[in-house]
Amino acid sequence: MKVLVLGAGQLARMMSLAGAPLNIEVFAYDVGTGNVVHPLTHHLMLKGLDTAITYADVITAEFEHIPHEILDICEASGKFRPTADAIKAGGDRRLEKALLDNANVANAKYALVNSREDLQAAIEHVGTPMVLKSALGGYDGKGQWRLKQVEDADQIWSEMATFLAETPNQAIVAEEFVPFDREVSLVGARDAQGNIAVYPLAENTHTDGVLSLSVALANDDQLQAQAEGMFKALANSMDYVGVLAIEFFDVKGTLLVNEIAPRVHNSGHWTQQGADTCQFENHLRAVCGLPLGSTALVRPTAMLNILGESKLPPSVMATPQCHVHWYGKEKRPGRKMGHINVCTGTSDELQSVLKQLASELDPVAFPVLQ
Ligand code: ATP
Ligand code: MG
Ligand code: MG
Repeated sequence: MKVLVLGAGQLARMMSLAGAPLNIEVFAYDVGTGNVVHPLTHHLMLKGLDTAITYADVITAEFEHIPHEILDICEASGKFRPTADAIKAGGDRRLEKALLDNANVANAKYALVNSREDLQAAIEHVGTPMVLKSALGGYDGKGQWRLKQVEDADQIWSEMATFLAETPNQAIVAEEFVPFDREVSLVGARDAQGNIAVYPLAENTHTDGVLSLSVALANDDQLQAQAEGMFKALANSMDYVGVLAIEFFDVKGTLLVNEIAPRVHNSGHWTQQGADTCQFENHLRAVCGLPLGSTALVRPTAMLNILGESKLPPSVMATPQCHVHWYGKEKRPGRKMGHINVCTGTSDELQSVLKQLASELDPVAFPVLQ
């Protein structure tokens, strides 16, 4: 099978690595340059999107901020999985919120803001403190504002007005500030027959809006069942095919959806060593029409993102519980350069290895270990 991935970043790279044993060839369309490249080497493979679409058996995406014209062309070929609409919803918080409401899954109270009057109405509807998010283009906590009190509304509006003027069709989604106890996410796969297999929830820590740590949760059946119910409602409502990730706020044991990602997800990287079948393989299985693989947890596992750093002390590679994954990307401050999966025999051992790593690793690249 030949799978064209829209996007040529680390997620396409890891799909390629997972596809090889199954004879699935992955190639990547770099949306920025318009080149069709090898996902590992970035060598040019084919000329133009049209040629790539013809060559592919299946087309999928590794990120959601893709021009709609490209999604529509891919969908018209009949080869695109999950659906252009799912990717569009992942890239536009207005569509995403409508999707969540339509599937009847709990999410933060919200209002759309396009003017100072809208902001006033939002303050009345959702209250303060409030989180304001750009509808288009947001990731890693970028394009967000926090309104703590009504008195700051004019100041925030002047910043947002400038921001709104920069991008056509941009808008702001104002959300109630959710006083969550923690953040968790569910990654799972749905195949074309409607079979669903989800992984155990992961507990996620963000540092300055960027995911820094995910820990697979083994033993919270009540939370897992809640998350699974919402996953089914959402995936079925979209007739979704592939891996889907849902980020939740855990408020005293009750889950509220924060956002969805219609793709493999950073909080699912732990599955590479911590689950029977990794999320990348299961995504490929789903979109290629193969049976889904087991999503069972095989051992206590955590994932640490490597931010803005391209080297690790040799002791990490020498630690048998550590599995290092580099993305082959150029170094930039704060950039996701790779991750370390830490897999252990027991949860206590997981905590002690993380503690050991905290003493060895640079706190700038691993802020969560500080
Ligand atoms: P990602 O890289 O996960 O796609 P993003 O830029 O789309 O990030 P969100 O996930 O919406 O942004 O928000 C980033 C973080 O900000 C969340 O993980 C959470 O910690 C915090 N946050 C977002 N919305 C709210 C809210 N309504 N109440 C409280 N905290 C929030
Ligand atoms: Mg997001
Ligand atoms: Mg998020």
